[in-house]
Amino acid sequence: MSLNNQTVKIIEEHTNEGHYVHYSFSVTDLVAIQPWSITWDFQTECEFVATSWRFRILFRQFSKKRRVSCSVSLKRRDSEKRGVKAFVWISFFDVDGRSLFDFPKRIYSEGILPGDEMHGSIGDRFFRGQTLYIGITIFIRCCHSESDLDHTTNVNTDDDRRCF
Ligand SMILES: [Zn+2]
Repeated sequence: MSLNNQTVKIIEEHTNEGHYVHYSFSVTDLVAIQPWSITWDFQTECEFVATSWRFRILFRQFSKKRRVSCSVSLKRRDSEKRGVKAFVWISFFDVDGRSLFDFPKRIYSEGILPGDEMHGSIGDRFFRGQTLYIGITIFIRCCHSESDLDHTTNVNTDDDRRCF
């Protein structure tokens, strides 16, 4: 099993609502008799509350089974006192570009503080030997004070988009 380094793409995006980091990559010959993980560190470089993060995706094969499970985690590593919201969306595609799930898998936290870690399980629907294309989007928001306060006055705003 290996990470195809030539496919790794990292795109960062800063908007009025927060900070996005997009990762895309492929893994070939999925075998994870020993748990196998990929880890990325990033910072938001926010001018109000700059936060630091470690994202991890972990594959694990159950003994004697062909199935491989996947889980992800996101840990906050800075020491700024303020809580922020964090969202992670994960999409999986096969070699023909077909999505393996109807919707991206999502994990989120409404108020993640320094040292906090959030986890999500994707389940064990991957097969030994499979090649996967994976897209991950991480969205950190509610760190730019002024613009976020405006949103709290709108009660009809979608929950994801509202700050505390
Ligand atoms: Zn920010």
